[in-house]
Amino acid sequence: MAYSVEIDDKTCNGYGNCVVAAPDVFDLDPETNIAVLQPGHPTDEDDEAVEEAEADCPVRAIILHHR
Ligand code: SF4
Repeated sequence: MAYSVEIDDKTCNGYGNCVVAAPDVFDLDPETNIAVLQPGHPTDEDDEAVEEAEADCPVRAIILHHR
């Protein structure tokens, strides 16, 4: 089961922990320094990495929704 991932762009401060935890899923926008989703992700295979990214975000800007 894949998650749908919401990034709270007002809370995200660009630490990049999510990119380290799940590089296939997250990237940092080079202009805004805010986390964005990689095209086509997350997939079912990304579940574990997405959970890790959520747990690693110091400001809880990653919100997971079950699809
Ligand atoms: S870990 Fe959280 S604060 Fe850091 S870039 Fe990712 S979403 Fe933003």
